[in-house]
Amino acid sequence: MNDRKPELVCPAGGLPALKAAVDNGADAVYVGFRDDTNARNFSGLNFGPEDTARGIEYAHRAGKKALLAINTYPQAHNWSVWTTAVDRAAVLGIDAVIMADPGLLRYAASHHPDLRLHLSVQASATTYKALEFYHQQFGIQRAVLPRVLSLQQLWHTIVNSPVEIEVFGYGSLCVMVEGRCALSSYITGRSPNASGGCSPAESVRWEETALGRESRLNGVLIDRHGLNEAAGYPTLCKGRYYTDAQPY
Ligand code: SF4
Repeated sequence: MNDRKPELVCPAGGLPALKAAVDNGADAVYVGFRDDTNARNFSGLNFGPEDTARGIEYAHRAGKKALLAINTYPQAHNWSVWTTAVDRAAVLGIDAVIMADPGLLRYAASHHPDLRLHLSVQASATTYKALEFYHQQFGIQRAVLPRVLSLQQLWHTIVNSPVEIEVFGYGSLCVMVEGRCALSSYITGRSPNASGGCSPAESVRWEETALGRESRLNGVLIDRHGLNEAAGYPTLCKGRYYTDAQPY
């Protein structure tokens, strides 16, 4: 039985959030750049280079760690955007980079051998055998396990893991197995895996019609709500559709 106190790692969508986390008990904070390299690439959030430097300094001054997620998957035409992000993270003195793409892990391990590597939840590694692979190939020192694992599956992975394990205490309501949902890209051209955003806001339209309040993604009808019906953000998985004239 290991009674070591767990480390509390908190996400920060901006500098004020980072400071609040550091001031209120986080042992480490993790942030992401304000671009496609970050799987939480939401409008109005995240960090530019200057914010990142200030955030790292703030965390370090308080004796806390600062981690950076570069956890989307580069595409064939934009590989250098991701390697530039890794280079920038190394120069800024980040404590660890959280990554998913094997090519990028290889790049970081060979170009920045002192940079600590964590495997992102976006890598969707669900077994200790997968963790052994990433550890042997790239030297990862920690893995973030997918939220979809049961407590029993988590325990089995943790006791056999060659690396530290991080698990979510609290996660969003997205139902995908991390790193494996491309639904949004079929309609908007953007998905969490390649550009960090599902059903991005610029593709969303709401319209009051005689039939109800309609939500569309890139012009495609996702849902129609009655007058007093609560309407959530229109992601593809949460739409309501008809199959064989039956609502689904
Ligand atoms: S479509 Fe749904 S399950 Fe897929 S990434 Fe978006 S919110 Fe998650």
